Amino acid sequence: MFDALAERLEDTWKKLRGQGKISQSNIQEALQEVRKALLEADVNFQVVKSFVAEVEKNALGAEVISGVNPQQQFIKIVYDELVKVMGESNAPLAEADKPPRVVLMAGLQGAGKTTATAKLALYLQKQKRSCLMVATDVYRPAAIQQLITLGTQISVPVFELGTGANPVDIARQGLEEAKNKGIDTVIIDTAGRLQIDQEMMAELAQVKDAVNPDEVLLVVDSMTGQEAANVTRSFHEEIGITGAILTKMDGDSRGGAALSIRTISGQPIKFIGVGEKVEALEPFYPDRMASRILNMGDIVTLVEKAQEELDIADVEKMQKKMMEAKFDFNDFLKQMRLLKNMGSFAGVMKLIPGMNKLGAGALEQGEVQLKRTETMINSMTKEERANPQLLAQSPSRRRRVAKGSGHQEKDVSRLVSDFTRMRSMMQQMSMGGGLPGMGGMPG
Ligand code: GDP
Repeated sequence: MFDALAERLEDTWKKLRGQGKISQSNIQEALQEVRKALLEADVNFQVVKSFVAEVEKNALGAEVISGVNPQQQFIKIVYDELVKVMGESNAPLAEADKPPRVVLMAGLQGAGKTTATAKLALYLQKQKRSCLMVATDVYRPAAIQQLITLGTQISVPVFELGTGANPVDIARQGLEEAKNKGIDTVIIDTAGRLQIDQEMMAELAQVKDAVNPDEVLLVVDSMTGQEAANVTRSFHEEIGITGAILTKMDGDSRGGAALSIRTISGQPIKFIGVGEKVEALEPFYPDRMASRILNMGDIVTLVEKAQEELDIADVEKMQKKMMEAKFDFNDFLKQMRLLKNMGSFAGVMKLIPGMNKLGAGALEQGEVQLKRTETMINSMTKEERANPQLLAQSPSRRRRVAKGSGHQEKDVSRLVSDFTRMRSMMQQMSMGGGLPGMGGMPG
């Protein structure tokens, strides 16, 4: 759905890749790309402006995280801001103080309002919440019939008074019916127009006053792009919405609507429609949407893991150990686990500029080697891990480790000699002042 935006940011990412650090000058081009991409994705221009300003501020103020390159950090900052704009976390449907809970559906004709009404009823029914759907679109007999058909399909009752009654009366009586029958949630489908229309808004406001809803959900067609911003603004100003459902996210719509709705109304998107079927409704998750926009959730995860795991105390401890030549198999295992936690070896390597040229074969081989090394270390005793010299000196110990890990003695010998060599290399490097990162894998 956000393909175009994802591609643009992918290009930005490539441009940034070759550069050393985030600075006022090199960030401008990247920000320009983000700006263009968002505008092309039909995000409202004011939303774009505040979004880009925030990204710039955060990027320039960002502390450099060890083990992560600045380009990855920039993407993470864009991602974080996207999540923030779209609402941080999933916003559930508001509960009523006392049942029935009333949900009023609003939106333009064709947005998917009637479909969303039934989708929501089915969604709630699966959570063992009883529903009543109320048909107030008296202008289109087909709309009432559509709701009845959907109701039959999902076994949810529909309250209707045909096309002769007044929408406000229908809504009021529907609510009474729900109270009498002890129904949990009433979902009121309303009439839409092809365009914003004062008469429609006035009627909607009257229905709202009559039923005092717990939720007013604006149903927005994600395919309408920039127009979604105007629709959101009008409905929010006129009747006040409490949330939105973004429909037709299964199509190749531009992503703009998702970003604009929250910024303009201050209200969360609660669900997305992902198909014509009545089951095709999902809770909206800002983080998932942001990952999808960026098409690079792997990088985001990598940076997050690095922030979590690579705490500076650990790095300093390891550095000290290296300098004193005390870095042992336990530290090595820890370092390897850190690498593994960050995703597959191949996955991590691909994120490092230049490494993606290695080709899949080489990367997979590296991953296999990483696993072999880990099984060998796991077969060592505590003493052997703490003192690799024990293995260097004893063929019988090496044979035991080989047997225990399902490898050959020569594999263990090689691991021990590679490790010893790596350790002395690390020592030299750390004496030279630099920290040799994650590299230096034996094997
Ligand atoms: P309303 O006029 O707002 O009540 O819109 P409808 O509920 O009648 O939907 C209009 C059209 O959009 C129908 O053909 C629906 O099947 C279709 N539709 C609604 N939601 C979705 C969705 O999430 N994905 C897709 N692909 N089609 C949808």
